[in-house]
Amino acid sequence: MRNIPLNKPFIDDKEIAAVLSVLKSRSLSGNGVIGKEAEDLMSRLFDVKYSLLTTSCTHALELAMMTLNIGFSDEVIMPSFTFVSTANAAIKQGAKPIFVDIEPVHLNLDPDKLEAAISAKTKAIICVHYGGFGCQMDKIMSIAKKKKPQLYVVEDAAHAIGAKYKGRYLGGIGDIGCFSFHDTKNLVCGEGGAFLSNDSKLAKKAEIMREKGTNRADFLRGEVDKYTWIETGSSYVLSEILAAVLLAQLQKLDTINKERVKLADRYLQALEPLGVSGDLILPKISPEIETNWHIFYIRVFDESSRDQLLKHLKRNGINAAFHFLPLHASPYAKSRYGYSEGDLPLTEEVSKTLIRLPIYPELASDEQQFVIKKIYEFFGRKES
Ligand SMILES: *Cc1c(COP(=O)(O)O)cnc(C)c1O
Repeated sequence: MRNIPLNKPFIDDKEIAAVLSVLKSRSLSGNGVIGKEAEDLMSRLFDVKYSLLTTSCTHALELAMMTLNIGFSDEVIMPSFTFVSTANAAIKQGAKPIFVDIEPVHLNLDPDKLEAAISAKTKAIICVHYGGFGCQMDKIMSIAKKKKPQLYVVEDAAHAIGAKYKGRYLGGIGDIGCFSFHDTKNLVCGEGGAFLSNDSKLAKKAEIMREKGTNRADFLRGEVDKYTWIETGSSYVLSEILAAVLLAQLQKLDTINKERVKLADRYLQALEPLGVSGDLILPKISPEIETNWHIFYIRVFDESSRDQLLKHLKRNGINAAFHFLPLHASPYAKSRYGYSEGDLPLTEEVSKTLIRLPIYPELASDEQQFVIKKIYEFFGRKES
């Protein structure tokens, strides 16, 4: 029987050689030459002034909240259709998450619902580029700008490496951007992330907080003769071993994302008739964005068809999957913040009806064809 995973990291001899070379160098800890090289490359690739590698995107988001001095009695606006890390980063600082519904085109934070969610306590908006489809950054940035200097925009760009909004790279548009290099993402290093910013003050503060609240980075650059404790902080530096894997991955970004685009085009073309017949809903791509196809999703019309389709695919060795459970309807958000089911209708509907299909550079065309065939089979239709 076939076994087609949902995702598969694209690793070859380059990553293996890079890891061996770091091990042989005996310099394994973070903030070293390889990490610096990866950071410089990231800054160049995504047209951003400052890039800092972190141990995960979860940690990059935490670092963002710390850097922005988010604290007790502050509010942070975010979608509910996201991973728990988006919310935890704010909650860890003592802030309250304010969940806003998504819009129907790209399933991102709905800018038209943003203003109503802003209060005197709002300190930040975290927007999430779901699946690599960019948020409406113009609207979000201009709403935030009206409340400057107090209201910041953080992009949770965990899905969005290499994707664009109006020609600009996601992760470099807000005050801070955060990437993930977890195994499930487009570029991987096992566990890892990045903090991006164009703001020198924020970047400087993050650099200190990432190094246990010390100015060790200044010391490594030879700017001071010893380093010392100057801020609160934690340990968010990425090991050179993982940075080496990431550097090799960054050099393949184009190849990886192009392969995903090809696969997505094939899915879109092959499944189009099922969209026309009203069996399913295909993703839409508005002209202002360029997605990296981190996720290829389809949607059906109710939860039970979604579950049956997933079961049908699983039985055939296809590891398709549902995605985020709405955070506002989780036990924690209900008991601690008083949210309830029904509060964010579109988030809830999308969560019940969305299916992610396998997409990764090594997905062979006969495997993809098999996935397509099994979807047609489920709906009892003939592929033309
Ligand atoms: C994966 C993910 C994260 C967390 O990334 P890690 O690197 O695993 O910490 C955060 N936000 C979103 C939207 C994600 O999908």
